[in-house]
This record gives sequence, structure tokens and C-alpha cells, in this order.
Amino acid sequence: MGGTVDFELTTEQREFNENLERFAQRELNDDLIERDRDGVFAAANWRKCADIGLLGLPVPAEYGGLDADATTMMTALETLGYGCRDNGLLFSLHAHLWAGTSPIVRFGSAQQRERYLPAMCAGELIAGHAMSEPDSGSDAFALATSVIRRGDKYVLNGSKTFVSNAPIADVLLVFAVDERKRGFAGVSAYLVDRNTPGLTVSQPISKMGLRTSPMGEVHLDDCEVPAEALLGPEGAGMAVFTWTMERERSFILATALGTMRRDLERCTDYARTRTQFGKPIGAFQAVSHRIVDMRMRLDASRLLLHRLAWLIDKGEPAKTEAALAKVYVSEAFVQSGLDAIQIHGGYGYTSEYEVERDLRDAIASRIYSGTSEIQRNLAAHHMGLSPRTSGK
Ligand SMILES: Cc1cc2nc3c(=O)[nH]c(=O)nc-3n(C[C@H](O)[C@H](O)[C@H](O)COP(=O)(O)OP(=O)(O)OC[C@H]3O[C@@H](n4cnc5c(N)ncnc54)[C@H](O)[C@@H]3O)c2cc1C
Repeated sequence: MGGTVDFELTTEQREFNENLERFAQRELNDDLIERDRDGVFAAANWRKCADIGLLGLPVPAEYGGLDADATTMMTALETLGYGCRDNGLLFSLHAHLWAGTSPIVRFGSAQQRERYLPAMCAGELIAGHAMSEPDSGSDAFALATSVIRRGDKYVLNGSKTFVSNAPIADVLLVFAVDERKRGFAGVSAYLVDRNTPGLTVSQPISKMGLRTSPMGEVHLDDCEVPAEALLGPEGAGMAVFTWTMERERSFILATALGTMRRDLERCTDYARTRTQFGKPIGAFQAVSHRIVDMRMRLDASRLLLHRLAWLIDKGEPAKTEAALAKVYVSEAFVQSGLDAIQIHGGYGYTSEYEVERDLRDAIASRIYSGTSEIQRNLAAHHMGLSPRTSGK
């Protein structure tokens, strides 16, 4: 890897981030404790994100997007995560951006781009990504959802699960395998509109964290879509999925940097002001070292993500770096979430202090977009250590 790394943001990036931080703090945190408890998606806040261009961050300007480079997106997303405490809203935004919108930018026909991208940027269409199935998770290409071509239509049958945004989505990117060509070469991707006959979405699945981001099952029962629904060529599903996952796992934890930064500041303030045994608890080394470790993890996470952005901006391969960053940042996010609660003692365990919610939200990061174990497998594969075992 040659070249230099420059950590200096441009004036434009700095100003964008300053405005974004103010916007997020002011507009995106209303009634959060209640919404988390009740599992309510903030539709009005989603539209506010659209109004300032966030839903079009990686989309070319001709389709209404901001056409931002990777470094700009990485720093903007950290800022957004710092200002917005609603990790669920941010998770929905990631699912929409990386797993729904970006594959259309990358693989979509001119007609698909025209049809979907402007409305996705404007907050009028919400996207979801339907790959996982009850019996096919890490082993993504063991999928059973089938597709068969009938005249100028494709007919889809099967069930998807854990689909983020499904209960609120207008369009779903669905992966299916042609029964006549089992295996990688038989997998294709389809853009399926929510109101297509034969497609049903379950009630939201209740979950531990990210409760303001609705997740559901998707059932396809003789669901007929036009030939134009195919994304990329027939049989390109593996390429679409692999590219999409790599992109998603490169950016999905950028907002976690913001959450970790906010929790670090809260812990530092708390350790300076909470006194026990006549001293601020930060004077006890067991507490201060925990905070130093939080800082170290945050800095290391940021460096990994910024290197990734730098590689992406240079158009260089970054598969290993994306896998390493995904493992490290998600594990750091969880450990720092645990530390934040420990530092706050009993108060940290209460909903009111809001650090317990960040931990619940963080735990999912070791699972979605490919688990930590699978990322280590991928890195081992790219390092020439093991055969590849999974599409994720
Ligand atoms: C919050 C959240 C949002 C999600 N959103 C979406 C979405 O929008 N769309 C979508 O399609 N999916 C989504 N998923 C599903 C997610 O991609 C899967 O949960 C994940 O890939 C793991 O699959 P699984 O749950 O079936 O676990 P499994 O694959 O059954 O794994 C179970 C355990 O075994 C381990 N394991 C499995 N295989 C290996 C191996 N070869 N080596 C070592 N360990 C292994 C795993 O790491 C894990 O610890 C989401 C999941 C979560 C939690």
C-alpha cells in the first residue's frame, strides 16, 4: 500500500459535519426512550434526513444524491452517529443506503436508476435487502428461495427473515436461485415492489436492540415480477450480493464511531463528577483505565475505517480491510458499551441514562452484515490461510 494518508478535512467537509451535528442533535432524538421501549420507527425523522440529503449520500447528483466520496461519507456518518442517539433510525438508514440504494447505483439499468433512485433519495421510497432465510444465514448461498422464468416474468417462491426495514419498505432487493442451475451461478437479484401480489411481510420481529428499526419476514408465494425487476444480469446474484455486503460492512459502523465518542465523553464527565470515598471515581485507576481503553478502541476503530475509506476512494481492493474493520469496530462497540455501563454503576443499568440502550444496539453489530466469525474466515481466506466457506 503506497501513498500518504491525510487526516485533514476540507473546509467543505468540516462545515457539512458541523451543520449535520447540530441538525442531528436538534431534530433526531425526540421521545427516544419511549420509542425504543415501544419499537417505533421515526418516520418524520426519516424525512428530515432525506431533506438534508442523507438518503442520497452515495448517489450521483443526476439522481438527486450528494455523490459524496468515501472519506466524506465516513466522517459525515460518524458525525451523524454522534449527534443522533437513535441507533435504530441510523441502522434503517444504513440498510436503505448500502443494501438497497447502492446496488441500484452500481448494477441498475438506466430505467431502474431513473425509477428508484430519485425517490429513494427524497425519502419517498424505503428500501430493504432480503437475503437471509430461516435455514441460510452465514451460508448465504445455501438459499432456498426459488425463481423460475415464465415468459417475460419471473416467479419467486420462498421465505426471507431478519429483513431490516421490511415492515416499512416500498421495495425489496430479493435474492433467489434458479432451480435448474443450483449453486452460485443460479443466484439472481430482483427489485420487488412491496405491493406485488404474492409478497407479504410479517409483523415486526421484536428484538433486543435497534428497536426503532423495524425488521420482518418476507414471504413470496408465486410472486410474479416483470423481467425489468432483474438487477444485473441473470446469474449475477453472487456478484451483486458480495459487492453489496462489502460496501455495507465498510460503512455501517461509521455511525458507531459517533456513538462511541458520545459515550466516551459521557463516561469522562461522569468519572470527573461522581464522587465515592471522597474522590471523583475517575481518580481510581480501575475506572480511569477503563476510560482510556474506550478511547484507545475508538481511535483504533476510526483509523481502520478511515484507511478503508482511503482505499475505496483510490479504487483499490479493500476486502480484507473491510472484514478486519467490521470485526474490530463491532467488538470495540460492544466492549465500550459494557464499559460505559460499568462506569455509571447502577445508573448505567437504567433506561434513563441511555447507555444500556447503546449496548443493546451495539450487540447486533457482531451479527449483521456477516458475523465476526465469518469476517475472520473471510480475512483468513484473503490472507491465503483457508478456503472460502461462505458468501457473507
Ligand atoms: C439486526 C440485524 C439486522 C439484519 N438485517 C438483515 C437484512 O436486512 N437482510 C438480511 O438478509 N439479513 C439480515 N440480517 C441477518 C444476518 O445477516 C444474519 O443473522 C447473519 O448473517 C448470521 O446468520 P444466522 O443468524 O442465520 O446465524 P448462523 O449463520 O446460523 O450462525 C450461528 C453462529 O454460528 C457461527 N458460524 C456459522 N458458520 C460458521 C463458520 N463457517 N465458521 C465459524 N462460525 C460460524 C456464526 O458466526 C454464529 O455465531 C440481520 C441480522 C440482524 C441481527
